[in-house]
Parts: sequence; structure tokens; C-alpha cells
Amino acid sequence: MSADCIFCKIASGAIPSKKMYEDDDVIAFHDINPAAKVHFLIVPKLHVESLQTCDTTHQSLLGKMLLLAPKLAAEQGLKGFKTAINTGREGGQEVFHLHMHVLGGWKTIPKL
Ligand code: 5GP
Ligand code: ZN
Repeated sequence: MSADCIFCKIASGAIPSKKMYEDDDVIAFHDINPAAKVHFLIVPKLHVESLQTCDTTHQSLLGKMLLLAPKLAAEQGLKGFKTAINTGREGGQEVFHLHMHVLGGWKTIPKL
């Protein structure tokens, strides 16, 4: 837990969110500013700054996050989706607590 981190506060329940899923390791909630009809975030409860600060000790956590994406996307009615992990300021990361975006439900699918 990092005192000033908004996603740590969401993970602990100190800040409310539209939570979709939670277990001992991760939490998933809808993005406050959705960029698609469905846009949610999969977030580890452990405070890790970004993919750049992950190492082999985070391997199973990262695998868990990836495998949760299709499960939660299906629960949202998505037949397909995009994932993104913005990494570092030059990667567009704004919240420095690792998270994976899951987006879907467009009429016109944006190309990366
Ligand atoms: P980043 O640019 O760091 O990859 O994405 C951060 C995401 O977190 C953004 O899409 C932003 O809308 C979302 N976000 C930031 N603060 C909050 C919040 O307090 N609650 C929720 N649900 N999403 C947030
Ligand atoms: Zn944090």
C-alpha cells in the first residue's frame, strides 16, 4: 500500500469504485472516464509502479491479470476486446500503480 496512490485506495476500499471482481490478489473496476462502451481496469492489490518495475516475482500475478481479462470481458457481454498496459510517462501512463485496461463494445473498432 502506497499512501498517495489512488489505486491502492480503491483496492483497500478507501475510495469507492464500480467494482466488478475482487480476490486476494487483484481487483477489477470500471474506468471512471471510459474510452469505449465497456472499459474496465484489472489492478493488482500489491502496489507495483508499472510493468517496468515488474520482475519474475510478479510472473504469476501478471498471468492472473491476463487470464482474468477474457473471463471478465465475457461477463460484460464482450465477444472481443483490446487490452493495454500503458507503461511509463512516454507510454501514456498516468496512474503509477500497474493496471491493465480492457476495452470493447465499439461500433467501429479503432486500430492501434
Ligand atoms: P493510465 O493512463 O495510467 O494507463 O490510465 C489510468 C486510468 O485510470 C485512466 O483511464 C483513468 O480514467 C482511470 N482513473 C483514474 N482515476 C480513477 C478513479 O479514481 N477511479 C476510476 N474508476 N478510474 C480512474
Ligand atoms: Zn498503489
